[in-house]
Amino acid sequence: MLKVCKFGGTSMADAAAFRRVKEIIASDKSRRFIVVSAPGKRNKSDQKITDTLYECYRDLIKTGSFSERFAFIRERFSEIAEELEISLDIEEILDRTEREITEKKDADFTASRGEYLCARIMADFLGFPFVDAVEMVRFDSHGDLNADYTDDKVKNRLKGLDNAVIPGFYGKDFGGNVKTFSRGGSDITGAIIARGVSADVYENWTDVSGFLVCDPKIVPAAKSIKYITYKELRELSYMGATVLHTEAVFPVMKKRIPINIKNTFRPEDDGTMIIPNEQYKCCDDSIVTGIAGKKDFTVIYIEKSLMNSEVGFIRRVLSVVEHYGLMVEHVPSGIDTLSLVLETGQLKGGILSDVVNEIRENVSPDYIHVIENISLIATVGHGMARRSGTAARLFGALADQGINIKMIDQGSSELNIIIGVANEDYEKCIKAIYDAFYKE
Ligand code: ASP
Repeated sequence: MLKVCKFGGTSMADAAAFRRVKEIIASDKSRRFIVVSAPGKRNKSDQKITDTLYECYRDLIKTGSFSERFAFIRERFSEIAEELEISLDIEEILDRTEREITEKKDADFTASRGEYLCARIMADFLGFPFVDAVEMVRFDSHGDLNADYTDDKVKNRLKGLDNAVIPGFYGKDFGGNVKTFSRGGSDITGAIIARGVSADVYENWTDVSGFLVCDPKIVPAAKSIKYITYKELRELSYMGATVLHTEAVFPVMKKRIPINIKNTFRPEDDGTMIIPNEQYKCCDDSIVTGIAGKKDFTVIYIEKSLMNSEVGFIRRVLSVVEHYGLMVEHVPSGIDTLSLVLETGQLKGGILSDVVNEIRENVSPDYIHVIENISLIATVGHGMARRSGTAARLFGALADQGINIKMIDQGSSELNIIIGVANEDYEKCIKAIYDAFYKE
């Protein structure tokens, strides 16, 4: 058994957290490759190291100096190193880091130092070798991960090592400079390493015991999800369920490596297992795995008789949104109708009316209408495909609550039913769906 473990910011926040992590690793010899985030908040009013590093960069560019802010970084790492009584000369490393940040004047390099410093300390504390992510993680000339090249590098670099600590969040770009993933990207690093060493499990250690069926702010007693497939997770995290970076599934998906979301503060909890479809084996009978959603969408509703027989109609509509560089979330359609669902944030500053006018000019619809303040809610579960009556149960529950559904979209995979409701019905809608499928 071989496990890759990634520990998030709250799991690395102070010396006590480092000790907790060491215990978790020592309790299972298969936990061999460790990926770390930068220290996160120790309490609600604290600052994440990564946020402070971005501020250091801004200070440096604006005023030419960032030493005042760097003092906070220095203090946090020195304190951790001192309390752990490690032999590493952290002051010397911090001095060098401060010099390098000054010389390079690069946002990604600056931000990456949180993970770098954290991994150096963790490696020393565990007595494992430190292997820098720049030796393995490569981005291509478009700034995207060069997955196959990276995979080879990971394989070769870690081959023959029993253990290693690797900093998350960054790698090297085409020109040899440090480049970071988007925020929360250490999850991706963990997945890349798991793929490269062909791990049996990728353990992602955080501060919650896995995913809940829905947001506990809406349903405080929401049940936790024991098993979820990669595809279900994709749908849910795209719709706003956080915990894991949305892109972290891809590297492990290729090798069918399960991801286990675990809680550093309650290691005895099973957490959530994210698994490939074929491993699901009907672990439980739940029809709906999770419910997630997002507020603030705009729907552009277009009606034209005989739309379906007009060749190129949809393309001409979509060419307008493409021209404005807008992302379209959904395109539900009927015989003579087509709707575009877009995030409202992109349509500010008169863009919405420009888009509507241009669609009017391009396709001469009989009727075009804008519906604003829409929330999208995804009810996800691959169990839905096997069962009849799921939609009836869902829509019946909403009707009972007097919720007006403004849009419905179900892909033919039957994995996900997406509905659009008014923003003010968002919470009520999630609660009604939860109750319909989970209330005993
Ligand atoms: N430290 C980085 C961030 O705060 C990356 C990570 O934690 O995964 O986004």
